[in-house]
Amino acid sequence: ETWVYAFGGGTSDGDASMRNLLGGKGANLAEMAKLGLPVPPGFTISTAVCVAYYDTGRVYPATLDAQVSDALAALEGKTGKGFGDPENPLLVSVRSGARASMPGMMDTVLNLGLNEAVAAGLAGKAGDRFAYDSYRRFIQMYSNVVLGMGHDEFEHILDDYKEREGLDLDTELTADNWKQVIVRYKEAVQKELGRPFPEDPREQLWGAISAVFDSWMSDRAIIYRKLNDIPANWGTAVNVQSMVFGNLGDTSATGVAFTRDPSNGSPIFYGEYLINAQGEDVVAGIRTPAPISRERANTLGSSDAPLEEAMPPVYKQLVDVANTLERHYKDMQDIEFTVEDGTLYMLQTRNGKRTAAAAVKIAVDMVREGLITEEEALLRIDPTALDQLLHPRIPSDDENKKAGNAAYDVAFKGLPASPGAAVGRVVFDSEEAFALAAKGEDVILVRVETSPDDIKGMHAARAIVTARGGMTSHAAVVARGMGRPCVCGASDLRINTAKGEFTARGRTFKKGDMITVDGVNGRVIAGAVSLINPDLSGDFGEFMGWADKRRTLKVRANAETPLDTRTAVEFGAEGVGLCRTEHMFFDEERIPAVRTMILSNDETGRREALAKLLPMQRSDFEEIFRILGDRPATIRLLDPPLHEFLPHTDEDIAGVAKASGLSAEELRRRAADLHESNPMLGHRGCRLGITYPEIYEMQARAIFEAAVNIFKEGKLKPVPEVMIPLVATHRELDILKKLVDETAQKVFAETGVTLDYMVGTMIELPRAALAAGEIAQAAEFFSFGTNDLTQTTLGISRDDAGKFLPIYSEKGIYEKDPFVTLDQEGVGELVKIAAERGRKTRPDIKLGICGEHGGDPASVEFCHRAGLDYVSCSPYRVPIARLAAAQAAI
Ligand code: PEP
Ligand code: MG
Repeated sequence: ETWVYAFGGGTSDGDASMRNLLGGKGANLAEMAKLGLPVPPGFTISTAVCVAYYDTGRVYPATLDAQVSDALAALEGKTGKGFGDPENPLLVSVRSGARASMPGMMDTVLNLGLNEAVAAGLAGKAGDRFAYDSYRRFIQMYSNVVLGMGHDEFEHILDDYKEREGLDLDTELTADNWKQVIVRYKEAVQKELGRPFPEDPREQLWGAISAVFDSWMSDRAIIYRKLNDIPANWGTAVNVQSMVFGNLGDTSATGVAFTRDPSNGSPIFYGEYLINAQGEDVVAGIRTPAPISRERANTLGSSDAPLEEAMPPVYKQLVDVANTLERHYKDMQDIEFTVEDGTLYMLQTRNGKRTAAAAVKIAVDMVREGLITEEEALLRIDPTALDQLLHPRIPSDDENKKAGNAAYDVAFKGLPASPGAAVGRVVFDSEEAFALAAKGEDVILVRVETSPDDIKGMHAARAIVTARGGMTSHAAVVARGMGRPCVCGASDLRINTAKGEFTARGRTFKKGDMITVDGVNGRVIAGAVSLINPDLSGDFGEFMGWADKRRTLKVRANAETPLDTRTAVEFGAEGVGLCRTEHMFFDEERIPAVRTMILSNDETGRREALAKLLPMQRSDFEEIFRILGDRPATIRLLDPPLHEFLPHTDEDIAGVAKASGLSAEELRRRAADLHESNPMLGHRGCRLGITYPEIYEMQARAIFEAAVNIFKEGKLKPVPEVMIPLVATHRELDILKKLVDETAQKVFAETGVTLDYMVGTMIELPRAALAAGEIAQAAEFFSFGTNDLTQTTLGISRDDAGKFLPIYSEKGIYEKDPFVTLDQEGVGELVKIAAERGRKTRPDIKLGICGEHGGDPASVEFCHRAGLDYVSCSPYRVPIARLAAAQAAI
């Protein structure tokens, strides 16, 4: 079996397609060598070795040693140098390289192969300062990553030495100085490990190879794999590559670059480099690297010479290589290079990470450049990433600098929990946030953490900031759902509500102070930054147009307020798939009438209160029909259990008493009557319509009167879709459909206008899914309420799942949160059964889904396969669903 694959020097055993076996880095090095690009030759020890190593209790395959020896001999042949040969030494780098890039693993050992004799030999050839500087770097790195010694220990020795010799900068140390430092380094190794630093280059090499394989099972790597769904049995490869030196003087350099700007996607060569330096110097931040291109230098106002001016021929060659790589990989590349005495070498290439904005721009540009097709462009973008593009944002640091502004005054940082940016005044209390927002103030809600009691304040706030909680905390989840920017888990934030202030990093901010929340980068900035509004036309619009051409699923939105409905239309919703009418009941002004209605003892009392609500609901619906134009709207009749509307405080009760004429005592008794132990399975949904038909009758009347009024305005002809929730049997639907039909006929007779309308049902209970054949006799459409259907199928309460579901995910019982990603094996089966049985009864029945899953890409893909007609999701997820639906269709 072949364990080792060579690359460079005119041959390549592997190529980019062998990523699984060679790891990302090894496969791309092989591919670059194959393309004839200047890659220092080397070889890759495959991931299969790693797998075998762990299968056998950390023993290498028997033939590996011989294959590595052969590869090393071939490498000596290609380079004309000898490993461990003081006359003409071959030095190598050793790097890990898994299939997916994986922080947490052993990274790099450079200059491997140096020992006393080789360093002396190298000194004769390349200068003694260079040789001994390289040697001490090697000892330091190797001792750290292979021998497991602390990095600080060596820094300590060096600082100590410099102080004693009166030296300040590393560059002031002569070869003799370094030699003395090296003696001290080696003593430290001997002392700590009880054995000398290895002199034998082969022992060094095997030490480094084993360190890479061992790091695959390091705690950090295991945790990273867990978080990112990377299987342990993928293994890592090891890349051994001949060294080239960027630190041979002023004709040498090293750098990293992106072939396009990863922050906004613009096609400029984006990167930085250092003259006379080795790879890790660029990232280490000891010296500030200079920009590569003149254009980028101008953007940054950098005074350092860009590579374009410092080494024009190398720059030109680098740009050629970058273009070759982009054309070859058909994607933006992230590259590493070294210039050794005027000669360019490529050390790495991979597809570059980028922001969502850059991803769209690059994909669209590449279609225009003829590099990729529209379909390839669509498949390349993660739908959920689009969320970042739908919110106002702060200018990037570059844009800010270019505009001549001072750098942002970052007050503190936290987790980037919900994207977008917002400016407003600090408020610590949800009620206060609500009150100030009602007066038209922009407020930012700052809290230790949030709970369901804060919903009103969160909704009223422009953004939310919390001191505690992770990416799935209440604040984070709710903020994302509402489309509010959020920074959470900001550990530097200390809130003192009593004093009305917070402190962070030694500064104090008071209630009312202006701050800017940057939810994309998890920053909170002092003062007001002027924001950039999202551009839904341009590249984004064109890209979404391609998606719309390909998808067959329609996309609607869950919306009931005019603002949400307008947002939904702007984001491309083709209608409203779920208008939750109870949200109209929660309105501050209406709640007294709602409460009076609920607490009335009899039908007459209820009808009186309902008569007050009728005009309000009607005008809500008129507004929605107007905004939607000729797009359809599915309006759901009252769903939640009545007790959700009940007054809680004495003040509330007194208010209702006044409005209803009932005594406070009677109201309390009635409220107690309505109490349920399990409201989710209680008196809710169509059960309300069955027991209090006058409620549904009022709502149906409001819908039809609104539709007629809009029709009479002369421009539009609404086709309302009236939806009955939580149906279990066709008998419920039969009764309620009759009620809706009769109400429609009454309104039509009264107004002299007859309109088309539909009556349908939600499928939210397993019984409804199974009885879909009978239910479809009366239902003209089904909308799968997969929130409730998940709850009732799995027997897991939506409200309590958070307590144990994370452990279920951890144990892989449900791989994904079933309230986020549809449980296809269970809930999905019921959806399929209901769709099939419903269609059998009524072939043209319209089928959609309106649970949270309607905005989840994997669930959208399922809906496409299950042959549904549409998905409906929250407005900010509409573009995500459009793209996911297109990807499902490609
Ligand atoms: C559902 O149950 O999936 C649904 C959309 O209804 P709600 O979330 O309002 O219960
Ligand atoms: Mg429901």
